[in-house]
Amino acid sequence: MAGDFEVLDERFRSLILPIVGLEKLYQGSLWAEGPVWFADNATLLWSDIPNNRILQWAEGLGTRVWRQPSNNSNGNTRDREGRLVTCEHGMRRVTRTEPDGSITVLAERYRGKRLNSPNDVVVKSDGSIWFTDPPYGILSDYEGHKADPELPGCYVFRLDPAGGEPEIVADDFDKPNGLAFSPDETTLYVVDTGASHRKDGPRHIRALRVQDGRRLQGDRVFTDINPGMADGLRLDRDGHVWTSAGDGVHCYAPQGELLGKILVPEMVSNLCFGGAKRNRLFITATTALYAVYLATSGAQRP
Ligand code: MG
Repeated sequence: MAGDFEVLDERFRSLILPIVGLEKLYQGSLWAEGPVWFADNATLLWSDIPNNRILQWAEGLGTRVWRQPSNNSNGNTRDREGRLVTCEHGMRRVTRTEPDGSITVLAERYRGKRLNSPNDVVVKSDGSIWFTDPPYGILSDYEGHKADPELPGCYVFRLDPAGGEPEIVADDFDKPNGLAFSPDETTLYVVDTGASHRKDGPRHIRALRVQDGRRLQGDRVFTDINPGMADGLRLDRDGHVWTSAGDGVHCYAPQGELLGKILVPEMVSNLCFGGAKRNRLFITATTALYAVYLATSGAQRP
């Protein structure tokens, strides 16, 4: 329905469908996060962090608990082989789920110190894994286990496809959160949600230039988010940035102009493209999972 969209720039009309509205697919989570689409079996997995579980939704079948306990999992993605890659608050690590269901630990320490609580993760086309490490999983017992940080900061890390210890690719974030590459992978967008615990902290998305495929340079603030903050974000095939915000999902042009919004009645944490044509946006929003068909589709990275 038209009421689910707010058009702020006429260009937004080419990205949405006037005859569709927001669907609620599930309700019953405490804090839904980390959606990831599995095209192979047409299902969506996502985290319900405080309830310590990963849920699975399938068209016509509804929702079931897929993994519990999940070690308070947060962000999810898939690697180049289609394996699930998960950030775990509870165990303060990044893991990979193998096809036989066993779990491989990809990262849990940096120079001997435990990570804070990996939050969100993305895999580049070369197989490298990039993730953020703010402290949300150790600030209280609600989304993990309360603990003192061992690292002096909150970093953006990169894991080399060859394995080994994570390397810091950005060390000047307050609380780095969602992250996503542009379709050509020359830009990495990283959210900073420092304002969650500091009134004048950052509430913006930064755009960092990817150098040699493995380093970050040429930083700029892509956009401030208002109202609320961004958390998770994804890009469509034309490089538009779709991000969570205080009043729903915001869509930004690649140059940073706010084009329009999908208005969602609950606080949105994250989103991902899915469906048979990758033209369905799945939205995790507090207690619920929503979806909306769009006139665009998710970025297919090279
Ligand atoms: Mg997040």
